[in-house]
Amino acid sequence: MSDVLIQSDQGALLIDGKAVAAQVLAEVAKGAADLIAQGVRPGLAVVLVGEDPASQVYVKSKGKAAETCGFHSVQHTLGRETTQAELMALVEKLNADPAIHGILVQLPLPKQIDAQVVLETISPAKDVDGFHPVNAGLLAIGDRKRALVPCTPAGSLILLQAACLVLGCPIAGQNAVVIGRSNIVGKPMAQLLLAESATVTMAHSRTRDLADIVGRADIVVAAVGIPEMIKGAWIKPGAIVIDVGINRVPGEGLNAKGEPKTRLVGDVEFSAAAVRAAAITPVPGGVGPMTIAMLMSNTLTAARRKA
Ligand code: NAD
Repeated sequence: MSDVLIQSDQGALLIDGKAVAAQVLAEVAKGAADLIAQGVRPGLAVVLVGEDPASQVYVKSKGKAAETCGFHSVQHTLGRETTQAELMALVEKLNADPAIHGILVQLPLPKQIDAQVVLETISPAKDVDGFHPVNAGLLAIGDRKRALVPCTPAGSLILLQAACLVLGCPIAGQNAVVIGRSNIVGKPMAQLLLAESATVTMAHSRTRDLADIVGRADIVVAAVGIPEMIKGAWIKPGAIVIDVGINRVPGEGLNAKGEPKTRLVGDVEFSAAAVRAAAITPVPGGVGPMTIAMLMSNTLTAARRKA
């Protein structure tokens, strides 16, 4: 695992999410090949409603990763005007399809559709995003053997474990703070850390004295969605920082089309944090690549359980 941590100029070790994701994908492809040899080909169905450009990019990369892993991969693209009933009918059809082990409905959905109702229509056994209340509940009671865990926090935990292994500091007993309490990232991340026996604090938009709370944490997981909100000066020297945030901000100069350039930053003020942290995930190239890798891993898990 030491090869996935790179010494940065600022001081901290950089946790190379691309390298870890490549390892996860290679293991998934091997697992899929074994399952195919037994006559079961893992199948992933991705459903996209509307033409959101970012969603189109995500869905394309998910399909590509599924094919690279040797999965049966299908994409359903529905129009922006699709009704809730139409989308639910498709999900029911995929629930009943024996060739499909994982179903992913790309969020956000158009406003006429209640996303929660749709997510709850997906069979928990095929819910590779891990958003169904049954999977959230299994994670909350610490039953990871039966749960499908949301991909971004599952990937973040693997990056954290890699850093802890190299630094020789087990997660158990450490003070961890998770900033953000979304159902997709913050809450499941806190559950995973708790299952690893960290002492977990959850911070959110109503938290007071965030700088003080962050300053006492050995492990910081930021999932807020506000560019560089977590200041480098708040980070406890020697802490491990997992930055889930992906925020597009104005860059310098113009691109080839003559438009103002943009760049991606995380929720953590990277360069100032990297001076104090022992290890940190970069943005991009940290948590981001892990999300798709864990989606493939969940699909393989779902197929194995069915087999
Ligand atoms: P969300 O908007 O659902 O939740 C944000 C959370 O931040 C909320 O719980 C809110 O309480 C908290 N928050 C808001 N303002 C705050 C403040 N001032 N102080 C402390 N907490 C505050 O967002 P999300 O879906 O959880 O995503 C969070 C970030 O992670 C976003 O940047 C998103 O783009 C990114 N993300 C990345 C990946 C990935 O693959 N790397 C996946 C999902 C989300």
